[in-house]
Amino acid sequence: MSEWRPFWPVTSVLGVQFNLVLYRPHVGRRRRCCWRGGSIPFERTLCLCNDNGDVASFTTFGALLTLAWQFRPRRMAKLYFNYSTMNAGKSTVLLQASHNYRERGMDTYLMTAALDGRAGVGKIASRIGISADADTFATEDDVFAMIEARLRQGKIACVFVDEAQFLTEEQVWQLARAVDDLRVPVLAYGLRVDFQGRLFPGSAALLALADEMREVRTICKCGRKATMVIRQDENGNTITEGAQVQIGGNETYVSLCRKHWRQAIDG
Ligand SMILES: [Zn+2]
Repeated sequence: MSEWRPFWPVTSVLGVQFNLVLYRPHVGRRRRCCWRGGSIPFERTLCLCNDNGDVASFTTFGALLTLAWQFRPRRMAKLYFNYSTMNAGKSTVLLQASHNYRERGMDTYLMTAALDGRAGVGKIASRIGISADADTFATEDDVFAMIEARLRQGKIACVFVDEAQFLTEEQVWQLARAVDDLRVPVLAYGLRVDFQGRLFPGSAALLALADEMREVRTICKCGRKATMVIRQDENGNTITEGAQVQIGGNETYVSLCRKHWRQAIDG
């Protein structure tokens, strides 16, 4: 993307207006006014100069205004991490936020993890029944390059990343680079900890690098805020061992407060 944009026509017009205030147009004697010393065919004519006889310079003011415009303060894009425990409705929040942009005519770019390893078109689905198409990222994908490629197709208001806990640390750095260098806001949504109470790698990196963090809240059976999750087998028994990511099993996940998570784990 080009850093320099052609604002010359706009600032030139502003420069002319600026000159008209500073160097008031008036009918004067050219020889004594702004055209001193030149060969003047008419004695009295329209002048554009100040009391010292300095002639207005449109180009100087145009150039100064162009520079001022170029170095104007700009709003910085940010990397946001919206974290929660399981079943807090973070995909719903993501889809609603994306919908709000699109409703106002601004495009968004949706990304989600390719859990089964297949890249391409995926889906972000919420438990309340809404969904949207999304590009998928696998562990080896360069998410900066994906965002850059999407930007080449057209302007986007922001990037939404679902299942952000599955990002690698390197991919979180790539998101940070997209925010800093491509000036596009990135909103990542993900789980903070796994069923054993340990940070996911993507979440650990996001907690370290995000500009802003927000918690998507849900409640435990006791009514307190749920911050932990347990994995249960088909009989409702708590599973305490196993891989951080399990695909295609019959497990279910239950969100609990820390106290009830400890009770469930200790048995
Ligand atoms: Zn509880």
